[in-house]
Amino acid sequence: MSVIDETLAANRRYSDQFTKGDLPLPPARKLAVVVCMDARIDPARALGLEEGDAHVIRNAGGRIADALRSVAISQTLLGTQEVAIIHHTDCGMLTFSDQSIRKQLRDARGIDADHVAFLPFGDLDQSVRDDIAAYHASPLPRHDVPVRGFVYDVRTGALREVAAAAPHDPTTR
Ligand code: ZN
Repeated sequence: MSVIDETLAANRRYSDQFTKGDLPLPPARKLAVVVCMDARIDPARALGLEEGDAHVIRNAGGRIADALRSVAISQTLLGTQEVAIIHHTDCGMLTFSDQSIRKQLRDARGIDADHVAFLPFGDLDQSVRDDIAAYHASPLPRHDVPVRGFVYDVRTGALREVAAAAPHDPTTR
């Protein structure tokens, strides 16, 4: 049985018990979270979120550059009003460079990925500050809502705030 088949069996059990079929589409708590895809992080449990509460946008590293499209949709169409950006200790993004993954793709599969920015980073706190800056540098997301950045510790499950940005006056942008 493949892992996907295992998940299908689990889903049948989940669906049998499911009672939240009447939730509205917009997130009830008006929160968008951008967080790394790391398998050790369970955002719902770590942040106390239930179905229907928040948008959780995941990618490698929890990088905002990779999430702006989703954040814009979340805010513009579905009314979210706060943004949390969460990177974490022991992240895989600390372990490679654009050059090294491009070389791996070239050597292993003959793929030219020289145009792809894989967005690795070398300094965890700085990567959070960079993403808050990148958020504010983009015209796409709202600039009148709180945007806060955190590092999640995979050993303790605790969040540490790295940088906070006060809501901007929308008339200044
Ligand atoms: Zn990660």
